[in-house]
Amino acid sequence: MTKILVAVAWPYASGPRHIGHAVSTFIPADIFSRYHRMKGDEVLMVGGSDMHGTPTTVRAEEEGVPPEVLANRYHALHAKNIEQLGVRYDLYWNTADPNHKRDVQEIFTTLRGKGYIDERTMTSPFCAKGNHFLPDRYVEGECPRCHFKSARGDQCENCGRLLDPFELIDPRCRVHGTPPSPKETKHAFFRLSAFQDPLERWIADKGHWRLPVLTFTRAWLEEGLQDRPVTRDIHWGIEVPLPGPEWASKRIYVWFEAVMGYLTASREYWRRKGSPVRCKEWWYDPEARHYYFIGKDNIVFHTLFWPAILMGYDENLVLPHDIPAAQFMNISGEKMSAGRGKGVWLPDLLERFSPDQIRYYGTANMPELKDSEFDWKDFAQRNNSELLAVYGNFVHRALTFAAKNFANAVPAAAFLDGADKGMVRNIEEQWKKVGQNLEYCHFRDALREAIQLARLGNVYFDAKAPWDLVRTDRAACGTALHVSLRVSRALAVVMAPFTPFSSSSLWNALGYDSDVHGQPWGAALEDIPAGQRLRVGAPLFAKIEIETPGDAERLDVRVGRIVEVQDHPNADKLYVITVDLGDEVRTLVAGMKANYTKEQMLGKRVAVLCNLEPAKLRGVPSNGMVLAAEDARDVGLLLPPDDAPFGAQILGTRGAPRLTFSEFQKFKIRVAEGDRVVFLGTDEKQSIPFKVGDKFVRVDKGFPPGTPVH
Ligand SMILES: [Zn+2]
Ligand SMILES: [Zn+2]
Repeated sequence: MTKILVAVAWPYASGPRHIGHAVSTFIPADIFSRYHRMKGDEVLMVGGSDMHGTPTTVRAEEEGVPPEVLANRYHALHAKNIEQLGVRYDLYWNTADPNHKRDVQEIFTTLRGKGYIDERTMTSPFCAKGNHFLPDRYVEGECPRCHFKSARGDQCENCGRLLDPFELIDPRCRVHGTPPSPKETKHAFFRLSAFQDPLERWIADKGHWRLPVLTFTRAWLEEGLQDRPVTRDIHWGIEVPLPGPEWASKRIYVWFEAVMGYLTASREYWRRKGSPVRCKEWWYDPEARHYYFIGKDNIVFHTLFWPAILMGYDENLVLPHDIPAAQFMNISGEKMSAGRGKGVWLPDLLERFSPDQIRYYGTANMPELKDSEFDWKDFAQRNNSELLAVYGNFVHRALTFAAKNFANAVPAAAFLDGADKGMVRNIEEQWKKVGQNLEYCHFRDALREAIQLARLGNVYFDAKAPWDLVRTDRAACGTALHVSLRVSRALAVVMAPFTPFSSSSLWNALGYDSDVHGQPWGAALEDIPAGQRLRVGAPLFAKIEIETPGDAERLDVRVGRIVEVQDHPNADKLYVITVDLGDEVRTLVAGMKANYTKEQMLGKRVAVLCNLEPAKLRGVPSNGMVLAAEDARDVGLLLPPDDAPFGAQILGTRGAPRLTFSEFQKFKIRVAEGDRVVFLGTDEKQSIPFKVGDKFVRVDKGFPPGTPVH
């Protein structure tokens, strides 16, 4: 029995998470934890929401809400989505908790006392227009390496390079758009360079790490580690425990404190259990094993910075054993990023599909060694042709045939012939392969070997042809069904870490009242008792039907916020409106002057048709269209949900080809019951609601169903 710490990267509480995030962190961490719990290891799985940092403050400023309001909203959403996905943390915490803050400040003070933190004056980008420094995401510009146009001051999210803000080409303030100037400021520095030798020695025996993780880490060590500032000129975060008024306007850098959360959350878990001393069993026992589940953009924070913090803070602490960082899951070749409002959002996926379907595809297509691609057709196909057709069908056939022909109970096994014995041996062989792969965090291979057991089951079932055997040799037929149900039982156990909900259903259908997740991993090898009553229910999995891209895909409707409203210089009924779409700002002309005052429009979230051919309206260029319902009486804006991120997709495809106004007019969009809005297509055969995540877009002022929207 080993003590295992499963440490899961802290998602920013700055917006909903997407499938790419889940497949690099929550899902593999949960599979790994479930497997080790079944093996009898003592697992402590911790993590939570990262409440601080510039992703949260930038978004909060855009929405005009305090950062804690935004962070609390998304922390609650993350916690809900994690539970829906069946991901079982021992503690899903957050970094705004006072106990985390206190522990972080204590670690900071200890490191400083040991000479690993000192204060230095450095030059930071400063925006004169807004009279503020520009930490991390507040400065944007072109990446000097890959020339991505919207790289941020701390990191280029396109190529993953960590950046010094002065390296950016054409840098600008994210808020004011002005080029920053250098200004001196005082910050606390972590002496990472002092850990060059200890880290090199520590890395030397990490040959079991994934190759991209090892290569990336070694490249950093070869370049030579630099001391790094670990405070920021920002007001949201953990206060710097240093005397002097200049520190009041600074906070501890989010990456310095969030990684400490693995230790502080472990303490918190045992504190809540009433035995705080037990935390030491995970953190001071050299036999304890620590695994960190993260995405590739966070590698060095976990392979170098965090181990250095641990070494500096207390040399007896357990260091990471493995850091199976995942590459990215891309959609249409682009990295999914919560910061940029793209992606396949968890709240939306969880509303449309079962958690096991999402977990299955996420694992079967997990970007373990190289980036993978999220593709809707592939998502449907893998679920339908593997999870459903191989696993779901096999167990359903065995269950329904036994129920129908053997009085709803497990038939007895009589004489086992060679094929029967071979099938029983297959259980053990596949079970071993699944376990071996899981030990090394090879999740894709582990899942493939588990499905292979169902595949072999189907081959066996077909070869036995029980539908013939039941008439010619009832005892042999009973044996074949017994073996098939035994294989189904084994599948419920070996699939439990991957698809926990369907394993519970299957376990129950096989006649067990116990919890399959409480079974030991070795239970997969046990036989099923003859005579046990079966409880055959619905098939385990539903077929996924993805509509072929229809008319709706030709539109690109996103959430925008009105940031400026001016009178049109040449037209009495028109406004010139500026909308913020999250990653771009557009100017467009709208005929709403008779229906809304400037004050009523300013700050409102609206639905913007983004792929309308730009045009000049009475001399003013208009790039896009604010959608609204209109009848003879009035005009009503479409209102996305209050918490919708700017730039979030409401309908259609981001970057869809441009439409002329007359092409757009062929599509029918109408008000529906409950102030909802639906897209009906050109032929009115479709009915796709306007939505963001799981929430509907509603029409302002109340219009009767059928009112046209344009
Ligand atoms: Zn500024
Ligand atoms: Zn780059």
